[in-house]
Amino acid sequence: MKLTLISPSFNRDYGLTKQRIFAFPPLNLPIVASLTPSEVDVEIVDENVEHWDYDEKMGDIVGITAMTAQAPRAYEIATEMRKRGAKVVLGGIHPTALPDEAARFADAVVVGEAESLWKSVFEDFRRGQLKRIYRNSDRPSLASLPLARRDLLSDKGYLFKNTIQVFRGCKFNCSFCSVSRFFGRSYRMRPVEDVVDEIRQLRGNSMRDRFFGFLDDNIVGESSYSTELFQRLVPLNILWVAQATLDVVSMPGMVPLMAKSGCRGLFIGLESSNPSSLTEAKKKWLRPEQFREKIKLLHDHGIMVEGAFIFGFDSDDETVFEQTLEFADKIGIDAAQFTILTPLPGTELFSKLENEGRIAVQDWSKYGANEVVYWPKKIRPEKLLEGYEWAWREFYSRWNISKRVLRSYKRWKSMVPLLLFQLQYRHLMRHRERISKKIRDQLLATAEGVSAFQCHRERSLVKKM
Ligand code: SF4
Repeated sequence: MKLTLISPSFNRDYGLTKQRIFAFPPLNLPIVASLTPSEVDVEIVDENVEHWDYDEKMGDIVGITAMTAQAPRAYEIATEMRKRGAKVVLGGIHPTALPDEAARFADAVVVGEAESLWKSVFEDFRRGQLKRIYRNSDRPSLASLPLARRDLLSDKGYLFKNTIQVFRGCKFNCSFCSVSRFFGRSYRMRPVEDVVDEIRQLRGNSMRDRFFGFLDDNIVGESSYSTELFQRLVPLNILWVAQATLDVVSMPGMVPLMAKSGCRGLFIGLESSNPSSLTEAKKKWLRPEQFREKIKLLHDHGIMVEGAFIFGFDSDDETVFEQTLEFADKIGIDAAQFTILTPLPGTELFSKLENEGRIAVQDWSKYGANEVVYWPKKIRPEKLLEGYEWAWREFYSRWNISKRVLRSYKRWKSMVPLLLFQLQYRHLMRHRERISKKIRDQLLATAEGVSAFQCHRERSLVKKM
């Protein structure tokens, strides 16, 4: 018997090679694989890093995970696999938010985290009695999670090899984010001992094998747990990066300990320089006037900071792009990621915009945070898209990259990784821009008298799921 687990492509327009640049090895499918009876032949396909063929990878049962931007491709794969006779199970954040939609394309849908349900799904499949929907009655404990079957992932496709997860859940409830709705508003943690054991097993001697990426949404969610974990990481001599909130700087002794345990970079959701936008995002607790000082403290400990910004809040007008770039420069971040506000199904933002009749597109493939899928308030949609693309271009211009790298001279050990990282971003950004332009030109060529944006919207509306 064969099980095929698939992570569909986020954006096939960009092509495989370019998608790989920032691809991290996923853990959800390797964990499901490890919960599958050992006599079953299991394969994992991550369409974001490898080419594959339906007939070659065809399993008796196929499990497909989907975030919103992956959903249309997940449904396409599900349809093809079912045509060939496989039973298909869909799971992940999007099927959890919209199980009835997902059930139209699958034999079964897993709502919520799969760990506590997968064994019964598999048993029911064996008996030929799959149910339409499987739901968790409570959130699974992370104690004694089996070791993820990383051996089933492609060896070459990822930026680095070792990803690890220690937390689930988030105590915050940002309006645009689906994390706390999917994983809950309290933190669940793996026992520190389990995490340390796993890192010991994965750690090798080469630089690549010593490098770890924590996939958690906030590595300092519970400060006492994080302190214990970081203390245990010190003797392991690893290097690591993670996501965190800027709160980390206010936790006594935390930043020096993180640096000592190998932390070299943090990805931080700064979202906006505008307090009204932060209030809208339900991130009022962020204080833009303190960002500079807090980032400096991280830098003083050799920790690079990548800040994430969102464009398109109701308070944003056409000045937001320049303001954000000036702000990013002033606070001294090392890298930035810009996205367009995207109302993911299941979030508070989606309900708000839907109630206000402002959802313009329900083609989920456009929900990758790089397209405008709703009617913004103070800015025309095409200007939002143009401003977003300008911000990427400007932030990663050769001049601005050089400026940031030279500015980091006191942290000389970071200069080379910083330069390489930014050049990768520049490369990816330029590729995306070329593809987006091509797509827009194609649309314009087929829609006389209609602006590219309107044309795009109308087509997407026609494609409504
Ligand atoms: S954006 Fe970050 S802090 Fe806010 S709810 Fe999501 S994971 Fe939590």
